[in-house]
Amino acid sequence: MLRQLGLSAAVCLAVFGYQVAQQQTVSLVVTNGIVVTVDSARRVIPRGAVAIDGRDIVAVDAADVVAARFRGRDSIDAGGAVVMPGLINTHTHAPMVLFRGLADDLALMDWLQKYIFPAEAKTVSPEFVRAGTRLAALEMIESGTTAYADMYYFEEEIGRATRAAGLRGVLGQTIIQFPVPDARTPGEGLARTERFAKEFAGDDLITPAVAPHAMYTNDPDTLKACRALADRLHIPLITHLAETQDEVKTAAEKYHATPTAFLDSLGFFGPRTLVAHAVHLTADDIRILASRHVGVSHNPESNMKLASGIAPVEAMRKAGVTVGLGTDGAASNNDLDMFEAMRQAAFLHKLVAGDPRAIPAPVAVEMATIDGARALGLEKEIGSLERGKRADLIVVSMSSARQTPMYDPVSHLVYVTRGDDVTTTIVNGKILMRNRQVLTVDRRQVLADARAFADKVRAAVK
Ligand SMILES: [Zn+2]
Repeated sequence: MLRQLGLSAAVCLAVFGYQVAQQQTVSLVVTNGIVVTVDSARRVIPRGAVAIDGRDIVAVDAADVVAARFRGRDSIDAGGAVVMPGLINTHTHAPMVLFRGLADDLALMDWLQKYIFPAEAKTVSPEFVRAGTRLAALEMIESGTTAYADMYYFEEEIGRATRAAGLRGVLGQTIIQFPVPDARTPGEGLARTERFAKEFAGDDLITPAVAPHAMYTNDPDTLKACRALADRLHIPLITHLAETQDEVKTAAEKYHATPTAFLDSLGFFGPRTLVAHAVHLTADDIRILASRHVGVSHNPESNMKLASGIAPVEAMRKAGVTVGLGTDGAASNNDLDMFEAMRQAAFLHKLVAGDPRAIPAPVAVEMATIDGARALGLEKEIGSLERGKRADLIVVSMSSARQTPMYDPVSHLVYVTRGDDVTTTIVNGKILMRNRQVLTVDRRQVLADARAFADKVRAAVK
């Protein structure tokens, strides 16, 4: 009897010892969630977990498998909510949240010339950009965006505020032919870009970029200089492309080409080029974008609100062009909610194709995650929940009346979920929001600062 007891104790110890030896301590385990991985097999794990160590994902598996292998110093019980890759907003102008709702329902040129340009000329400063970026960061964290691409002025301020908020950014310093708040000439803008790129070289979160505003707001020499700078510094190049019929007309009159063919003739489409909108494209333009591996940001809400047109998203996807989703600046949207961008993309392309099978829910989710990562050249780091990638993920509650019942979590993410349903946001392994509590941005201060700037904006457009 004693011998038997001794033996089973030894077996127990051996088993226990084995488990201890196998269990690895990691920084964070997010468990008990429906894990929508967006990996190459598009796995959805009904009761899954993600183990995170430092900035990296070390395991994505069934919750019991992860529990057997990993013990988190910190843990989050998702309680049956969806755990998914953080959303990637491939086009915005973060500080423009301070112009949200300033002027709506106007013709594009009236909107730009009577409101946006005068407001920008009189109010955009480093302080404005800082306050605006903090507000945008707060909104993005609260609505599940973990990475974004930006184009604006004083981009170094945007970089600092983005890094302080803990978000990931591909941030483009705007280059434009006429005097703007942070540069009197394109040459000054390029010099600013170079300083900005040096400040953030090798940064874990911020990828600096050069962002000529558009082909119609820069001359060919400036556009070529932007490409050359991007090549020399090995940084991405971002621009607006073929957004409106006016732009197509300008390109035809000045250069006897489409905007896309014109930029291609300059050698503009090199490595890591991202274009926003790509609304008015010919079949040849689509072939150019595909052959040059240009990433496209599709902005359905901005394109609808400004009546710019409908981007040929299905044709681009068929031709092999990577198409991510964006919100555009909040002045033309009027929010940064990527769940809405997913839903509007799905609805718009069904309507225009006359086919409810166009942009199905899984594709809308891919566009907002892995395809967005690809468009930014960051697909090895982010865009899906996979071992070895950075831990950029969100927890999305599925418990509201609006989300009940749930047959298919991917359908729900696109057709009934809102940014407000996000409860937890994690970037680079760091928790930025936990149970709706934002930890990296002082919410009250940021809202107060934004309201104070609104008074200056009001005065500027009077
Ligand atoms: Zn834009």
